[in-house]
Parts: sequence; structure tokens; C-alpha cells
Amino acid sequence: MMNRIELLAPAGSLDKLKVAVDFGADAVYIGGKEFSLRARANNFSIDDIKEGVIYAHNKGSKVYVTCNVLPHNDEINEGNRLVEYLKELENIGVDAIIASSIYIIDECIKNCKRMEAHISTQASVLNSLACEGYYEMGAKRVVLAREASINDIKNIRNKLNEKNINVGLEVFIHGGMCSSFSGRCMLSNHMVNRDANRGGCAHSCRWNYDLYEFGGSEKLNKDCYFNFASRDLSSVNYIRALIEAGVDSLKIEGRMKSEYYIATIVRSYRKLIDAIYENKDNEKLMNEVNDEINRAENRLTSHGFLDGTITTNEQLYDSNDHPTKEFVGRIKYIDLEKNEVRLTQRNYFAVNDTISFFNRDKQYNYVVKRIYNNKYEEVDAARHAEEEIIIIDEELVNVLKGYKDTILIRLLIDKK
Ligand code: SF4
Repeated sequence: MMNRIELLAPAGSLDKLKVAVDFGADAVYIGGKEFSLRARANNFSIDDIKEGVIYAHNKGSKVYVTCNVLPHNDEINEGNRLVEYLKELENIGVDAIIASSIYIIDECIKNCKRMEAHISTQASVLNSLACEGYYEMGAKRVVLAREASINDIKNIRNKLNEKNINVGLEVFIHGGMCSSFSGRCMLSNHMVNRDANRGGCAHSCRWNYDLYEFGGSEKLNKDCYFNFASRDLSSVNYIRALIEAGVDSLKIEGRMKSEYYIATIVRSYRKLIDAIYENKDNEKLMNEVNDEINRAENRLTSHGFLDGTITTNEQLYDSNDHPTKEFVGRIKYIDLEKNEVRLTQRNYFAVNDTISFFNRDKQYNYVVKRIYNNKYEEVDAARHAEEEIIIIDEELVNVLKGYKDTILIRLLIDKK
């Protein structure tokens, strides 16, 4: 096997960046306030990026900043703001930008000596000659289009190796897919005037519709809604093949997803990748990892384009989303003197529920006996979002004080 593969996770906020790093990401990608898609996300200010870079670098992880907007002409005439911005990113230690506009890529390569330019999936690269072209420009990595199969990826790497072209290849392994070539769809623009290529996609393909034949009056969808979204991508069974195909980075999609989703998905793939390098991957582990991932998923998943055969099974034509509410909280701090665990509520849980405290590599199941609000009034349930809840229990404190970094909490069994 080649160099150890990178696990790359999304982060839509500083808190999520810390969770991704704490749960095993080798690198995170974030959006700045300028030149980035996901315009509606709570993007990072320069100070946030700086804090994120310090946090990630201290733990041996890298930070990439997306600059993947496709600028209109009036946006490239705003003096040298792009160059200034790229230099600011480089000065605070950002490891790479991810861009698809040749203008942004070129300015990065010309003006930044240390910060790398990575070619975004928005460029839809599906062949070795395109990789070669970007490499010759000075790009260090290409994020392949989600439409590449494992055979495509192997062929691309082999062709590049034949020419000694050492450009990194990054591949999406998990998260949302687009029914169109990534973002090249005007559905959202037409229906709600939100531009998919400016981070504004309203996911109109995922809305629920009724289906009629043109001119017909009979509703064709019977007991469910019709939508035309793709299932989300999940690649647990393909990770070994991707490593052996010579991929450099495995990317998880979802800067808008919750910290619980990021923690669970990163932790699961981390476990699997580490097992593969130790030759300890087997069917039992795959099942465990798939189960774990399904806990965080609220949409059906498929292998996307990875094995090259696309069928109606990769679509969500007749399914409705079923969001889960398993994530119930995050520990704020543990007071060793008072034997208190203080947590922030994220979803409802109650006395007698079984909850599970977990970090990157540990998990502790716990039946909730007594809980208090922050005035030390006993309550029967944690009902209010972001409410501070206190658990006083010496045994629990003794277990959790051995857990490093971020600790999240999920519900293990359904409430009756
Ligand atoms: S509406 Fe659906 S198909 Fe269109 S860009 Fe958004 S996710 Fe892709």
C-alpha cells in the first residue's frame, strides 16, 4: 500500500471542526466568508479560521478552505481582494484551498508558496488528462467527480503513475449526492431563486411531489410521495478498494450536518481505515461500522457511482426522509469536586432512558436516574434545546474523567 490515506471531514463551524478532529479526521475542510459556496452556512471568519488552524495543527490535522464559487465578471474586478484573501489564509497556516475557478486556482498558485491549490469536485474531473493539466498548472490535488467509479479511479491513477505525475486524488466516500453533475442543476434557481453554484441549493429534488402523467388525472404515486433525489453515498464496503486504487484522501460530505453526524461518521471510517492498515477488517467489523453509520443517517444510502452500475436503487423516488433524534447532548464540563457532569441538551431524553456517552474510541452506556436543571431543581426530562442539564453521579464522573476531548451523548433505546 502507498502512503497512509487521509480521512477528510466537513466542518460548518468551529465546534464542528473540533469534533471532527477529536473523532479522528486527518484533515477538515471549511468555508470562509468570501469566495465560498455554502453561502447560507455559518461560514468562518478569518479569526475563526485562525483558531481552527491552531486547534487542528496542534492535533496533527490539516485545514483546507473552500474557495469554490464561480465568480461572475464584476466579482473579479474588485481590486486584488482575492489575492489579499489568499495571502491572509496562507499567513494563518491554512494548508490548502479547494477551488474550481481557473482564476482562483491560478491566483493561489502564483501568489502562495506554501498553501496548496486543490481542484474542487465542481470541476467534474473524470480522466487522467484533466488531472495532468491541473498538475501542470501547479495544483497539488484533484477532487474527482462523484461520478467516477472505482475502475475509473484505478485507471486515472495508473495513467498518472505511467507519467510520474504525483498529483493527489481525493474521492467522496460519504454524504449527500446530487441528481445532477454536482451542482450543475437549475432546479433550485428556477423554483426558489437560490443558486446551487453559489451554495444556495434548496434541494428541490428532495422535496415531496405528486406524480401525474402529462395530461393525466391519475396520481401515479400511491402510498408515498415522489421525489427525484439520489440516495446519500456510503462507501464502507469500498474503502479497501479505494486505498488499493491509490487514492490519497477520502472525503466526507456535509458542512451543514450536525456535530453528532460528523462525530459518528468520522469515528466509524477512522475505525475502518485503521483496521484495514492493520489487516483486521472483516465482515463483522463492516457490519458494525455500517450499523454505527446508520444510527446517524436520516436518509437511505447507496454506493453511488463507485461500482459503476447505476440503477433505480440509487434513487429515492418513492421514499420519505425519516430524521432520527438519537443525538441528545454534549458534555460541557465535568466537575470532579462536585461529582457533576454538566451537559448541553440537543434533543429530548428522560429519566430511565438509556443513553450512551462516547468519544473517538470509547463508549459508556448509562441509565439516567436523576437529572437537574442549572438551578439544581430535579426534572423528569431534558426538554429544552440548549438547556444545561446536570447529572450528579460519582461513578459516572469516574468513568468519564478518563475520556479525552469532546464527549457526545446519544439515546440507545427508544423512549416508551
Ligand atoms: S436541487 Fe438536487 S439535483 Fe439540483 S443541485 Fe440541488 S441537490 Fe443537485
